Amino acid sequence: MLAAPSPYDVLFEPVRIGPLTAKNRFYQVPHCNGGGYRDPSAAAAMRGIKAEGGWGVIFTEQTEMHHSSEITPFIELRLWEDQDIPSIARMAEAMKTHGALAGIQLAYSGINGPNMYTKEVPLAPSALPIRTFTNDPVTARAMDKKDIADLRRWFANAARRCRTAGFDLICLYGAHGFGIFQHFLSRATNQRTDEYGGSLENRSRFVREVIADMRDVIGDAMAITLRVSLDETIGDLGFSNAEMRDFVAMNADLPDLWDLAHGAWEDCSGPSRFKEEAAQESLVRGIRALSSKPVVGVGRFTSPDTMVRMVRQGVLDFIGCARPSIADPFLPNKIAEGRIDDIRECIGCNICVTGDMIQGMGRCTQNPTWMEEWRRGWHPERMNPKGDSDSVLIVGSGPAGLEAAWGLARRGYQVAVAEARSAFGGRVTLERALPGLAAWGRVVDYRLYQLRQRDNVQLYADSPLTADEILEFGFQHVCVATGSHWRSDGVARQHVVPIPTAGVLPVFTPDDIMANTLPSGHVVVFDDDHFYMGGVVAEALVRAGATVTLVTPAPYVSDWTRNTLEQGTIHRHLASLGVDLVLNTGIASLGTDGVELACTYTDARRPLGCDAVVLVTSRTGEDGVYRELLAREAAFADAGILSVSLIGDAAAPAPIAWATFAGHRYARDLDGAPLGDALPFRREVTALAPA
Ligand code: ADP
Ligand code: SF4
Repeated sequence: MLAAPSPYDVLFEPVRIGPLTAKNRFYQVPHCNGGGYRDPSAAAAMRGIKAEGGWGVIFTEQTEMHHSSEITPFIELRLWEDQDIPSIARMAEAMKTHGALAGIQLAYSGINGPNMYTKEVPLAPSALPIRTFTNDPVTARAMDKKDIADLRRWFANAARRCRTAGFDLICLYGAHGFGIFQHFLSRATNQRTDEYGGSLENRSRFVREVIADMRDVIGDAMAITLRVSLDETIGDLGFSNAEMRDFVAMNADLPDLWDLAHGAWEDCSGPSRFKEEAAQESLVRGIRALSSKPVVGVGRFTSPDTMVRMVRQGVLDFIGCARPSIADPFLPNKIAEGRIDDIRECIGCNICVTGDMIQGMGRCTQNPTWMEEWRRGWHPERMNPKGDSDSVLIVGSGPAGLEAAWGLARRGYQVAVAEARSAFGGRVTLERALPGLAAWGRVVDYRLYQLRQRDNVQLYADSPLTADEILEFGFQHVCVATGSHWRSDGVARQHVVPIPTAGVLPVFTPDDIMANTLPSGHVVVFDDDHFYMGGVVAEALVRAGATVTLVTPAPYVSDWTRNTLEQGTIHRHLASLGVDLVLNTGIASLGTDGVELACTYTDARRPLGCDAVVLVTSRTGEDGVYRELLAREAAFADAGILSVSLIGDAAAPAPIAWATFAGHRYARDLDGAPLGDALPFRREVTALAPA
């Protein structure tokens, strides 16, 4: 029997890429993950899960293709020599398990590679200081003709290694300011006067030569894609959208596919706070008509309707996804099966990016199994079987409690969730109402929807539980996920004991702002938390009519958001709203009609008059019920209680991703064999070479 046509069928049409055919239009564009060359099996298994989830094309992250250009301290992949082949071959193999095309992104970082590990002199089209996140005090040497010939040969060598490793596609990286092709194309970084500089045709010469060299090596079995910047957004000299279109028209048949990515990485992977889904549409629209080759573009696509529109309107041939494929590796299969409500939509928080920026292990707020597929054997769609016990009471319905409930429900436990408030969702339900954070609500919407489908889950709102009540209920396991509250005493990093105060100035916290209890007049927001909340509170107050000064001991507003690629945007945004930004400054004390500021470096003091202060400093876990329960431990056996656990913000306040991870881990580990002192995950240790 024929299946009824679906509005999404167009997304499952096969599309040719050079000599190859992708089975559908779902294209996982290259993305970092924090694992890189340090954790090759973890990174490979993560890509394998995408294959299982139905992606037609799956790429590696950026792969350093020669030792003379590396991006220490960042951990991506390496293909410097033959001994690097086995670990990336493992990734290619995992990618191809379900019929996806396996792609590798080759990067020669040029002006973006400081070479802190290899100590080689960086090579770039022109001699300029290295351009990285870290302002390294290193200058690149301008490549001479021999260097260009060498680099062409190194690309050919890398292509040969990619073929040996089993890849189908090679993406040449020339976007985000990171790859040498962009450095040649842009007049900002290519100030040469020879045949590789000047006119657009000259600036295109290098990429044309490299692609021709590589085609000689790879023959007809592989395809070459080119990732180019849609608009460099660095002023007049930058590679503009208009010039980019001229470049595509001039080189229409050069690659087998055009991979389009916006300006800097910050532009391309903007958080939902500042960028909507499909934000790059106007930059991409029309490019497809300039070439006969297929086009892939990104835009944090999670809506199948938007994806269909992109294809039907001829904007894109492939739906490029990095973050949506992280949040839900099974996105294609869910669309294919018509399970639209089961899509775990990316919330655009960019916590995944922090894995790369900090070289930790990648985390995803929505998908706690990300990068744990190999380490802990976690699958995003399947839980481990149920253990010996049967019932679990979860106290608190924030991200930790809801994720724990969802994991346990899938394992087959009887689960009850008790929530003190009338709305489920904990901090997410409060924070989603703050300026720019609406999409974060998906953390709760997804889980509540799933839980409501299950007959082994009971959800109780308006149910603030006490230890006595919990003991009476008779659940075998009690998981306390009662969250946290913001401190009103200023304790964080500058002040490890309460901030001195005259006790007169009205003091507020983010909890007050979220409860709509707002100060007015001139309000000082003191941010010693350094993630998003200080800036968001400042914006909320401006929108409510206050005059706002944001004071922070850090050199940057919302300092930690440098790791989520939004710090510059936050600064610009708050400045445009008229927020007075006072950096490198703490608050020594709260007076009667203002605060006393203190320079972070010199401790020089000065008064700042204000009507109120909002302390965005730190949070304290709400562990009262847990402690009361522990005090009654002797009564557990009679009450039938086998375990009482404290998870999420109640145990240790942290970003939402930490809470979903804690909830997931609780659900996985329940009834498991005790680990004792063993490491809770697998890891790879560098093999020793002969001494
Ligand atoms: P997390 O991020 O760890 O999930 P949240 O602060 O988002 O934490 O959520 C904790 C939730 O627990 C809040 O909605 C809060 O109302 C609820 N809660 C706190 N104490 C109790 C209690 N004693 N009984 C039921 N719910 C509680
Ligand atoms: Fe999306 Fe946030 Fe997950 Fe990244 S961490 S994929 S932005 S939900």
